[in-house]
Amino acid sequence: MTLVNDAAPAPVQSAGRKFRAFTVKHLDELTARAGLSPDQRLAIKAVATVLPFRTNSYVVDELIDWSAVPDDPIYRLVFPQEDMLPREDVARIVDLLRREAPKAEIDAVAHDVRMKLNPHPAGQLQLNVPRLHSEQLPGVQHKYHETVLFFPKQGQTCHAYCTYCFRWAQFVGEPDLKMAASDIERLRTYLLEHPEVTSVLFTGGDPMIMGEPVMRRYIEPLLDLDQLESIRIGTKSLAYWPQKFVSDPDADDMLRLFAEVAAAGKNLAFMAHFTHPNELDPIVVHEAVRRIRDTGAVIRTQAPLIRSINDSPEIWQRMWREQQRLGMVPYYMFVERDTGPQDYFAVPLAQAYEIFRSAYKDVSGLCRTVRGPSMSATPGKVCVDGIAELYGEKVFVLHFIQCRDPELVNRPFFAKFDPDAKWLTDLRPAFADRFPFEGTTPSLGGGTSAPDLVASGPAASGAGSGPIATR
Ligand SMILES: *Cc1c(COP(=O)(O)O)cnc(C)c1O
Ligand code: SF4
Repeated sequence: MTLVNDAAPAPVQSAGRKFRAFTVKHLDELTARAGLSPDQRLAIKAVATVLPFRTNSYVVDELIDWSAVPDDPIYRLVFPQEDMLPREDVARIVDLLRREAPKAEIDAVAHDVRMKLNPHPAGQLQLNVPRLHSEQLPGVQHKYHETVLFFPKQGQTCHAYCTYCFRWAQFVGEPDLKMAASDIERLRTYLLEHPEVTSVLFTGGDPMIMGEPVMRRYIEPLLDLDQLESIRIGTKSLAYWPQKFVSDPDADDMLRLFAEVAAAGKNLAFMAHFTHPNELDPIVVHEAVRRIRDTGAVIRTQAPLIRSINDSPEIWQRMWREQQRLGMVPYYMFVERDTGPQDYFAVPLAQAYEIFRSAYKDVSGLCRTVRGPSMSATPGKVCVDGIAELYGEKVFVLHFIQCRDPELVNRPFFAKFDPDAKWLTDLRPAFADRFPFEGTTPSLGGGTSAPDLVASGPAASGAGSGPIATR
């Protein structure tokens, strides 16, 4: 076993400025700065007992326009809103906070509220954990044949937290909801036994929270694996702490590590999460992008479409154009997942499609590498291609960008049009009594939850296998 040890956290320096995290302890001070009333601030604090809150000095000082708060998109990106959770839940916690109830009592109520928020969407916990010699590999997910997700133990936090985060459950101390791994040697063995895997995706949290020595201990052992074409890093560091690649003490070492991946004949795919074009404005971001690209790494960009933060075509168009200008490649527009405060942030699929189309129609082909709107759902990534009328029926035209069953990838299928549908599970098949991914189950709708679909896919069979819910 090669365990990657926790390194002592290195002091993070940025052109004389240290990384400084703000947590719930600082929330009241910060919302006071926003000019909110004591009642509003208490409600926000109540929300922050349920959902994670963390931001930092760069986000607070450089990205948020405090004169535009509470409408400022970056403020909304990191600060909880009082109406993000059901009113009665917030009222219950506000009451406990007012009474200065014991912490255990508050924690218990917060836990109850969390459990109503579908903390692990798309069956992540049960469905996608692979086995090595009949033992589960924690912190690894193998959902699609060619790609394995790896959650390094030291990468399970972020420089700031997004209010809409779909991995929020692991940040709030729900112990049995955590996924993390430190054993890179077991991943190596697993990959050697699964030559179909050509891509390892480091994810979190944010792997770029790790210092270079720790990152190196995870990446180096993969460099001699001939089967790997790419190593991907999913990260929001370019938006939340670009100093990581410019002025942090380990910046140059990290870039050298990226260059070594290219030298080993692999693509270092830097999957940058940008939610709003304002995140692209600071010069330090441009400098970070230039330095990363100089290593031979390719930066691709992705983000979910979020109500009240980036739900307009102008925002996406500005974002894609600016990314392209800086040499990044637009990759995905996601639909907000069915977890956490989804009711608050979700944009209906019909509207998401219109925003995508409207933003896409006026950009150059170089930006049209972007795909979406895409739902990362239990059977796979489903793209809403359009709304059409066929045989007198209004339908959604859909296709799988990625699927547990590779045979279904890129084949069109149809769902009855529903202006309110927000997720795959809200949709009903059109011109058929079931969707192609449903096999013999009549419909994925309503009550069908992920555990019903266990016992299929690479996780359960030990080898890449067929679609969910077909044998
Ligand atoms: C999106 C995703 C991937 C990567 O898919 P690509 O289409 O190759 O970008 C891998 N695993 C999971 C679970 C995913 O959601
Ligand atoms: S950066 Fe990603 S993992 Fe971190 S809080 Fe945002 S969405 Fe969640």
